[in-house]
Amino acid sequence: MFDDINDLYQQVILDHCKQPRNFHEMPAATCSAQGFNPLCGDNLKLFLTLDGEIIKDASFVGSGCCISKASASLLTENVKGKTRAEAEKTFEQVREMVTTGKVTGDVGKLAVFAGVYKYPARVKCAILSWHALIGALKGSDGPVSTENEQT
Ligand code: ZN
Repeated sequence: MFDDINDLYQQVILDHCKQPRNFHEMPAATCSAQGFNPLCGDNLKLFLTLDGEIIKDASFVGSGCCISKASASLLTENVKGKTRAEAEKTFEQVREMVTTGKVTGDVGKLAVFAGVYKYPARVKCAILSWHALIGALKGSDGPVSTENEQT
């Protein structure tokens, strides 16, 4: 049974990796942040359009491994319509999930990354776009590197 679930999760990740959603530049973005994971070579840029506290739109561009692209793709779907505070809370949930495998609260499709904690080298791939999200929300101009963050 658990193998079936893992297969399903892998299918979702493969789907988002091959056909990433919201994969485009956003000229009208109100904030953006670059994320770089030197351990794997993942490099992506996240765009957000904020309306007050609400994330109206999200997109990304870049290149990287399957996990990092699928994570960014699912992130852009997940945070659309959320408030800044809700997105920050989701970041905490994702971080706990990919480092411990524990799912707290309703993370929706993001649960596909719950198995990543078993592969320590991939944790940073999965969390990269989320660090970029926090960087964009904070309005930091500099690139976000997983090597400067405590995963
Ligand atoms: Zn990667």
